[in-house]
Amino acid sequence: MLDIDKIRKDFPILETVKYKRPIVYFDNGATTQKPKVVTDTLTNFYLSKNANIHRAVHFLSQESTNAYETARTTIKSFLNASSEKEIIFTSGTTESINLVASSFGERFIFKGDEILISELEHHSNIVPWQFIAEKKGAIIKVIPMNNKGELILDNLDNLLSDKTKIVTLNQVSNSLGTINPVKKIIAAAHKKEIPVLIDGAQSVQHMKVDVQDLDADFFVFSGHKLYGPTGIGVLYGKEKWLEAMPPYKGGGDMIKKVSFEKTTYADLPLKFEAGTANYIDAIGLKSAIDYVQGVGLQNIAEYENDLLKYAEQKLKEVPNIIFYGTSVNKAATISFGIKGVHPTDVGTLLDKLDIAVRTGSHCTQPLMDFYGISGTIRASFAFYNMKEEIDYFTESLKKVVMMLT
Ligand code: PLP
Repeated sequence: MLDIDKIRKDFPILETVKYKRPIVYFDNGATTQKPKVVTDTLTNFYLSKNANIHRAVHFLSQESTNAYETARTTIKSFLNASSEKEIIFTSGTTESINLVASSFGERFIFKGDEILISELEHHSNIVPWQFIAEKKGAIIKVIPMNNKGELILDNLDNLLSDKTKIVTLNQVSNSLGTINPVKKIIAAAHKKEIPVLIDGAQSVQHMKVDVQDLDADFFVFSGHKLYGPTGIGVLYGKEKWLEAMPPYKGGGDMIKKVSFEKTTYADLPLKFEAGTANYIDAIGLKSAIDYVQGVGLQNIAEYENDLLKYAEQKLKEVPNIIFYGTSVNKAATISFGIKGVHPTDVGTLLDKLDIAVRTGSHCTQPLMDFYGISGTIRASFAFYNMKEEIDYFTESLKKVVMMLT
């Protein structure tokens, strides 16, 4: 289905040998590696096309501006948004959520109102809401999860009260890989005219996302988890919300007219893009999306699902393993612990065997509290990973467990 040998050649870092063999990179949930076409795009742009955007009449600036706005159009199509006005470039998921929490919260959240989040959230989809809740005197409510790491939706109708101003949750859990039924949750919230923000930081790289089909009010993601550069991300917002929300930051490019008495703001999307945008990384993100679409998101989803199923079976061979997050609906992430062993010790020894996994709370401490643990070992796969790597991982893990127990 996928030509893995060819794909792996596009990612030179996968040839890195620190100890004995090329690195087995299973930390894709934290960040993905970059295909050479993305780094070439960045280098070429800096070396031959760079100029500040939206500013000057000279040809370099025109080219830069065109490339930046073309990147926006690519992202509009990638998410199936209805207009470029709905695509705001940010520095990443964290900034996108902070923007909405701060700006939407300023305009729409007041004392006694409720913000509904899920128990599976990353800290970046918890803390910004706590800031605005504290500032406005609002209350955070939580959709609970079960032992499999699935959201419990039986009581959703009651949680969506007449005080709920926004629902915010991820489409895929970074810690467990659970795919949440966001379309169903959005439909339930919309019955009560409550908008929903979807954190797509862990979904856009694994599945096709269509914001109009989901009917999401806001959708956010980071470039670096989608094979693109760091420091660039996206906020999709329905035009009606973005129009109603006040600017988040002030500065150049986000204004129509400034005087000492009064300033008027630029139209969307620039109203939310104060200062010199990270235009080169936006152009790099376009190149990453083109690459991913060349491979095909459907092919990626099928290939990664096959890897996941294979890994789930293989890892059962490891003594004393405890799996966390066993929903049938999962993206390519496995979280587990080893009875009586600290995750960091496992991660440290695996590193010496050229295997990169993530250990710890994965920025989801409330989720760890649910299980009564301090952290897990997480293997998160990408489409450049292979079954041979999972075999090596399983055998290495068996050795590590033998040493530590
Ligand atoms: N949300 C989820 C589900 C994530 O996995 C992450 C990062 O791991 C974030 C938000 C934050 O992303 P960033 O650090 O790129 O802003």
